Amino acid sequence: MAGETVFVAGAGQMGSGIAQVAAQAGYEVILYDVEPRFLERGLGTIRRNLDRDVERGRKRAEEREAVLARISGTLELKDAAAAALVVEAVVEHAEVKAQLFRDLDAVCPPETIFASNTSSISITRLAAATRRPDRFIGMHFMNPVPVMKLLEVIRGQLTSDATHRAALEAGARMGKTCVTVQDYPGFVSNRLLMPMINEAAYALMEGVAGREEIDTVMKLGMNHPMGPLELADFIGLDTCLAIMEVLYEGFGDPKYRPCPLLRRMVQAGLLGRKSGRGFYEYGA
Ligand code: NAD
Repeated sequence: MAGETVFVAGAGQMGSGIAQVAAQAGYEVILYDVEPRFLERGLGTIRRNLDRDVERGRKRAEEREAVLARISGTLELKDAAAAALVVEAVVEHAEVKAQLFRDLDAVCPPETIFASNTSSISITRLAAATRRPDRFIGMHFMNPVPVMKLLEVIRGQLTSDATHRAALEAGARMGKTCVTVQDYPGFVSNRLLMPMINEAAYALMEGVAGREEIDTVMKLGMNHPMGPLELADFIGLDTCLAIMEVLYEGFGDPKYRPCPLLRRMVQAGLLGRKSGRGFYEYGA
């Protein structure tokens, strides 16, 4: 990439993590959200992560300061004009993302590369909201971003080879191992993961077993580090439901129908860790 500035849209769990790894890789980072409190929460998370790294001897205090100095927050979309790469990590909602990309397209020079961190929405569809579908790609980071090694890179129908190369280069510089996949609903990661989580919700709803039992079977029996219900809470039940809807709609196959219990929990505001309660309770 010619420039050195990365603009990250959305300062939630994923956006703040992406901003952190980009700044650690030496990029200048601009983190954008719609309200000061979201921005502050995201910047606070980055600060806490870096403090923990210093306490545990993984970073020197000067490194923490240098990383923080490379990140600035903004509520102004026009600041994206300075970026060589935009990484979008706002809510998993196709129209919200498409509108944001339309606005970014008007602000950024034509050479700026646009990447979406969407978990499941078609990259081709989002790219079509812009006049640069060749400079548009999926960069699907895993949660928590500073810890997880994988970056799923998704080529849209019109993504150019040069854009693909630039995304692989940026991913490698951020310390990630990139796997390239084609643009199908849920890509590889969530096409496999979400039906398992959804099925775990069905098993709970039908009373096959309790939440701890379901999670224990998968942890001890299949060697998964987290059980599916625990993992769903960690990801966010709203995000899980949104991904199931994309799979269901995208393939038109009833095997992907979202579990009614999952839907009801989201309607009730039980979103998992981020709301304090999901399949488990987390306190304040
Ligand atoms: P989150 O709810 O923690 O954060 C979303 C952020 O986007 C919020 O801060 C919100 O204020 C902001 N936002 C909403 N609309 C906006 C707009 N128009 N402009 C700017 N900011 C806006 O969600 P998250 O878990 O960080 O997920 C973000 C994206 O990353 C989603 O597409 C999700 O599917 C994807 N993703 C999530 C995970 C996960 O485990 N949670 C993993 C990989 C990818």
